[in-house]
Amino acid sequence: MVLYRRSCSHITERRRRNARTLSLPLYENSVTLTSSQLPTEILDEIVQFALVIASTDLDYPGFAFIRSLTLASSCFRKIVFRRYLSSLTLNTLSQLDNTFKLLLSLGDEPFAGAFSWVRTVHAPSGILSAQPHASQLCYLTNLNELSINCNHEGFSTYQQRFKLICVNLTSCSPIMTLTTLTLTALPRIETRMLQRIALSFPSIVNLYLSCTERLNFSHCWCCLEDSLTCTMHSPVPERYLEVHDLATAFADALKPLKNLTDLHLGVFLSHEDLVYSHMRHAPHYLGHPDIISAPSECDICADHAKDVRMDELAASLIVARKIRGLQTIGWSSFFGYGGGDWASNGEKADDDVNDGGGGDQVEDTNSDIIVGNDCKTKVWILRMNGRVRVRRVPW
Ligand SMILES: [Zn+2]
Ligand SMILES: [Zn+2]
Repeated sequence: MVLYRRSCSHITERRRRNARTLSLPLYENSVTLTSSQLPTEILDEIVQFALVIASTDLDYPGFAFIRSLTLASSCFRKIVFRRYLSSLTLNTLSQLDNTFKLLLSLGDEPFAGAFSWVRTVHAPSGILSAQPHASQLCYLTNLNELSINCNHEGFSTYQQRFKLICVNLTSCSPIMTLTTLTLTALPRIETRMLQRIALSFPSIVNLYLSCTERLNFSHCWCCLEDSLTCTMHSPVPERYLEVHDLATAFADALKPLKNLTDLHLGVFLSHEDLVYSHMRHAPHYLGHPDIISAPSECDICADHAKDVRMDELAASLIVARKIRGLQTIGWSSFFGYGGGDWASNGEKADDDVNDGGGGDQVEDTNSDIIVGNDCKTKVWILRMNGRVRVRRVPW
C-alpha cells in the first residue's frame, strides 16, 4: 500500500512537472505556436526554387517576377530581395541603374545593407565602369564571383577599364571574399593585369582569363582578319620569344595567389604565324567562299600539333612549379583533342623539363577531356614525392 502510494505520488509529481513544462511555451509563446508561419529556412528554399525555375524561362521578367512576392510580408520581402540580389547579371546601363537604385533604397547604411547580399556579378566591362555607379562598387564587400566580358575593349582601353573596376571595387579594402574571377574576350593577357588581380583579389581560387573567343573562324574573311588584328591571340614570339618565357612571366605575376587551384590562360601557345599561314593555305567551305576552316580542322596545320602539345605541357609544368596550390591549368589550343597520333604528348614530369622532351612519360591521350569548345586544352597537376607531374586527364 505504501509502495502504491509512493508510486502514485511519483506519477502525480511527474504529471505535475510535465504539465508545468508543457504549459510554459503555451503561456509565454502562445503567438508562435498558434501561428501557421513557415520557418525562414523553408521560405528561403521555396524562394530560391522559384527564382531558379523563373530564370530558365527565356522571357524572364526580372524584377517584375518578384514584385508580388515582396508585398507578402516584411519577412518574405527580405528573403526575396536577398535571394534575388545575390546574383546579378547587368547587361545594360538601365539594368545597372535600376539595380543600384534598388540596393541603395533597401538600407540606410550601404555597407551593412543590401549590398552585402550580392555574391555574384556578371557584366560587360563598359557597364561596370560607368558612372555614377562605378564608385559604388566598393559597397560590394561580400562578392564571391565576378565575371566581366571585355568584348568591346581594344588594346588602348582594356587596361584602363580593368584598373578602374579594380580600384573602385577595392577602394575601401581588398575583396577577401572573391574566389572566382572570369575575364572573357580580353584583347590580351599582360603581366601588369595579372599583378593587379593578385593584389586586388588575394583569395582567388578559380581564375579564368581568355582572349581567343574574340576570333571567329565561322564568320567571313573580313571579320576574322579584324578580330585577329585587335587580339593578341598567340603572344609567341611577338610578346614572348619562347613559350617558356610566357609561362614564367605569367606564373611569377600570379605567384602571390596562395589559394589558386584552377587557372585558365586563354591564349594560344602555338607560334603566331600558325594562324596567318593557315589563312593562306586554308580550304574554303563549299558554297561559302568567304569562310575558311579553323586550324583545328586543317591537315596541314596538324603537322604542328605534336610540338604545340609538348609546349602546352612544358608551360603547364613551369606554372605548376611556381604556383604551389595549382591543381589544373588550361590554355587555348587548336589541338586540344587527343588522338592516336598524339599519344606521346599526354604526360610530363618536372625532371623532364630540360631534356628536350626525350624523357617524357608516355600516356595514351585518347581519353583527352576537353572542357568547353575545341579551342581549349586542360592539364591536371599531380604533386607527389617531391615531383610535379602534368597530364591531360585527371590523376
Ligand atoms: Zn563577317
Ligand atoms: Zn592550316
